[in-house]
Amino acid sequence: MSRYIVKPGGKVRLKDQDPEDKSDWKGEREEAELELIKLRQKLSGLQEILYAQHKERILIVLQAMDTGGKDGTIRHVFEGVNPQGVRIANFKAPSAVELDHDYLWRIHPLVPGKGEIVIFNRSHYEDVIVVRVHELVPEKKWRKRYDQIAAFESMLAEEGVTILKFYLHIDKDEQKERLEARLAEPSKHWKFNPRDLDERKLWPDYMEAYEEALSKTSTREAPWYIIPANRKWYRNLVITRILVDTLESLDMKYPAPPADLDKIVVD
Ligand code: AMP
Ligand code: MG
Repeated sequence: MSRYIVKPGGKVRLKDQDPEDKSDWKGEREEAELELIKLRQKLSGLQEILYAQHKERILIVLQAMDTGGKDGTIRHVFEGVNPQGVRIANFKAPSAVELDHDYLWRIHPLVPGKGEIVIFNRSHYEDVIVVRVHELVPEKKWRKRYDQIAAFESMLAEEGVTILKFYLHIDKDEQKERLEARLAEPSKHWKFNPRDLDERKLWPDYMEAYEEALSKTSTREAPWYIIPANRKWYRNLVITRILVDTLESLDMKYPAPPADLDKIVVD
């Protein structure tokens, strides 16, 4: 469906993926923005049927480096979608209670129910990314998690969850610009976390962790897409398209109306 999908069993090298790529859009940026508006309208219509039909469940996983655009993606792609059927789940550093449990314990209750779209803003993938980079658990433990995650997602898929996973791919220069923009703009200061600068120093370690996670957990039923994300407009366009294509492929229908509706008179 997309050139950006990670083929199951494939080996990802992020250096070979151009974060500036925009080869799925031949026109001007302005035209792309009009296209995005049209796609959003489609998305909104599809989501209405999804909600009414109360059958399909959609899970969207967003992962990225700091400033990678997770929040902006949620804002721009889902603008115009009825909030009633959409839920965002943000995964921060685990609480003490969460740390007392297995790493999927806090994840499972938040997966979508019937008729719902749920967006994971960070996810169980942090447990093989930040956890690996900072050695928060021993390697022996996190190594097992690729298979565990694949098994968990495979169970969800077999139970009827449609899973889409997006890695928003920016490069280190782009992150520098975005961090500087946060520093320069008072209304963005709240987003500036000095700790992000320490994480930035670990960029190569993060890339290695992402490469392994993307390679080992992209499956037919829960594929990863590596989205070129230096250009926000292109990122939004590609993700919205993949969502629209995926929802269209589900061939959803409004539920059948009650019998003899045509004979009813409201007086
Ligand atoms: P933000 O998304 O900027 O609000 O930051 C959330 C922070 O929570 C990031 O630094 C993540 O790396 C961290 N985080 C999320 N999940 C985990 C996890 N399972 N273990 C440790 N840190 C996590
Ligand atoms: Mg942050």
